[in-house]
Amino acid sequence: MMNIFNEKDKPFSPERIGEYYNTVVPDTLDLAERAEWGLNHFTSTIDETNDYEMYWLTGPISMSFKSCPLMACQPKAMEAMAMLRIMSGSREGIELEDKMVRMLASCIGDDGIYWVMPTQGKKPWLGPEEMRPYANILGQGRMMSAMAAWYQYTGNQMWKELTDRMIEGLDKIVVVHKDNYAYFPIGGYMEEEYFKSCYIKDKGWKDTSEPMNEKGGEEGSLFNHSGMIAGILSNWYALTGNKTALRLAGELVRFFTKPKFWADYPGGEYPWVSGADHAHWDGHWHGHINTLRAILEYAVVTNDPRLKQFVRDGYEWARQKKFARIGLVDSQGCGCGRLIGLAVKLSREGVGDYWEDVDLYIRNHGTEMQFTPDVIDELKKYTVPGELEKLRFYDHHIQPEHGKRKEKALHAMIGGFGSNYGMTLAVTCCCSPHGNMGLFYAWDGMLEHNDGTVRIHLLLNRASPWLDIDSFLPFEGKVIIRIKDAAEIFVRIPLWVDKKSVEVRKENQTVHFEWFGQYVRAKELKPTETVEIIFDMAERIEKWGHPEIDNRDGIGWIFLLANGPVSKEQTPENTLTMRFRGNTLVELSPLPTYMDGQKTLLYAKRLEKYKSHTVKYKKVTRFSTPFKLKW
Ligand SMILES: [Zn+2]
Repeated sequence: MMNIFNEKDKPFSPERIGEYYNTVVPDTLDLAERAEWGLNHFTSTIDETNDYEMYWLTGPISMSFKSCPLMACQPKAMEAMAMLRIMSGSREGIELEDKMVRMLASCIGDDGIYWVMPTQGKKPWLGPEEMRPYANILGQGRMMSAMAAWYQYTGNQMWKELTDRMIEGLDKIVVVHKDNYAYFPIGGYMEEEYFKSCYIKDKGWKDTSEPMNEKGGEEGSLFNHSGMIAGILSNWYALTGNKTALRLAGELVRFFTKPKFWADYPGGEYPWVSGADHAHWDGHWHGHINTLRAILEYAVVTNDPRLKQFVRDGYEWARQKKFARIGLVDSQGCGCGRLIGLAVKLSREGVGDYWEDVDLYIRNHGTEMQFTPDVIDELKKYTVPGELEKLRFYDHHIQPEHGKRKEKALHAMIGGFGSNYGMTLAVTCCCSPHGNMGLFYAWDGMLEHNDGTVRIHLLLNRASPWLDIDSFLPFEGKVIIRIKDAAEIFVRIPLWVDKKSVEVRKENQTVHFEWFGQYVRAKELKPTETVEIIFDMAERIEKWGHPEIDNRDGIGWIFLLANGPVSKEQTPENTLTMRFRGNTLVELSPLPTYMDGQKTLLYAKRLEKYKSHTVKYKKVTRFSTPFKLKW
C-alpha cells in the first residue's frame, strides 16, 4: 500500500464550510438534527483497537464485527459522513473520522483496486487469510462513490488520482468486456455468502461466464453485486470528464438493461404488457433501486430519453410494492433511503415529479427507522437482566452486552437505522449509512437556488444562505420563510392542502400571489423580510390492502401482520388503516407485531407525539452552507 497523504498530520476534513448561529425554531422534523445523530452513530462505532474498522452490528445485545463493513459498507458510511457534516456542520468525532478515512484510502492498491488485506490471523471475520487480498465488487462502487463525495467535500486532488486509478484497474483487471457491453462476473473462489463473488488478487475469477439471470451474486442479486457502479462512473464522468468512466458505464448499462434481467417473475405479465421494456421487476429491493438510479445517471450524462423513461417506469413499478405510500418497502432501514435517492434524482432531472412521494417517505419510514434519543430512552427502561434480550432478534447465537459496554452500545445506536422491522435490538453498517444518506437526499433535494430564485419542494425546517424555513407541520398549516438573499421564491404546496385555504403574508400583511401548478410564488423580496404561508391542516384516513406475505427479502417481513389471511378483498385482518395529518402518519392500525404477537416499537409512539395541535419550540444552533455536493 502506498503513502497517499501529503500532509500526514493535518485533518482531512475542511475547516469550515458554512455559518453557525443560534435561534429558536418549531420543534418539528429537522433533518439537520438527525444528521447530527447520524454522526454520533458513525463516530461511536469506529473501533480504534481494530484499525478504525466499524462494527457491523450495534445493539444492546451485541457490538460485533463482520466482513461486510470493510469489504463494502464502511465506504458507504464514509460517504454518508461527508453528507451529514454538510447538513449539520457538526465537528463531533472528526479526528476519529479522519483516521478511518485514511485507513480506507490505504486499502487501495497500486492497481487501483480496493482490497481487503491479510491480517495474520488478527481478524478472522474477514474470511480465509489465504484468499486475501480479495475485492468485493459492490465495495469497489461504494468506495468510488465515497471518494467522489470526499473529492468534492475536501477539494483534495488525491481522491481524484485514486478514483481515476480505480476506474483503470476495474476496466483492465476485473471486468469482462464483450462486443459492446461488459459485466462483473459472479463466480469467485470462496464459498460463503459475501465472499463467493469476490475477485481474488492472486487467482482472479474462478468462473467468468456471463450471468444468465438477475438472481446471482451476493444476496442472490446481480444488481446488488454490481449495478450501482455504472451510476458512479457516470457521475464521475460528469464531475471530471474521465472518458474511460463513461465508456465503461455505457458497457455496463447495456448489460444491465438486457431484457433477461427484467420482468422475470415466474407468474408472468398482464396481457399486452411488455414488462421488460418498462423495467418491471421482482426481487432484491436494494439492488434494483440502486441499479435504476445508476441507469438514470447514465441516461442523464448521455441525454438518453428512452433510458430515462425506462427508469421512470421502474420507479413507478417500485412504488406499487408493499407500503411504498409511506416508504415501508422492505424490512431494513435502508430501503427507503435508497428510494428517496431515486425519487429526488428523477424529480430534479425533470423525468417525473415525485416531491409528494419524497414528502411522504421522509416524514414516515425514511425517519421512523432511525434510532432517536427518545427510542433509546425507551430501551433503557428494560433494566431486568435478560428482559431486553427476550425481545426478538434474528440471531440468537449473539451474546448480549452487559454493563459499560451495553451503555456504550445504546449510546452508539442513536442516529443508526434499524436493520429489521422490530426497531428493537440492532442497527447495522448497511442500513445506517443508506438510511442517513436518505436524510441527505431529501435535505439536498428540497431546496434549489439559482440566480436569486429559490424553489422549495418540501415544507421542512431548513437553513440555507438564501433563506431559512421554519416549518410548523404537522401541528399547524404554516411555514415561515426568512429571506436572506433571494428575490423570488416558488413554494410547493403538498397535494392534501385545500388550495382555497392558502394565504401568503409578507411582513404580516396578506399579499396577492400567483399559482404555478402546485407552487406558490412570492416575489420582490428583500433581505430580512419574512414570508408566511398559511393553510388549513387536514386529517384523512387511508386504507391499504396488505399484499401477499413475502419472506424472500429477508428477516422481518414475515412478521408484519403475520396473523392476517391474504385475500384481494379488504377485510379488517388484511387492511392497514393509516391516519395522516398532512403527510405525517399519526396512527397505524394494526401496529406491526412479531409472529408471537409481541409489539414492535415501529410507529408505536406517533399518536402520543402528535396528540397536540400546538407546536413547541426549541433552541438550536443552525448551520447554513452554500456547499453543493453532486451525488
Ligand atoms: Zn440495510
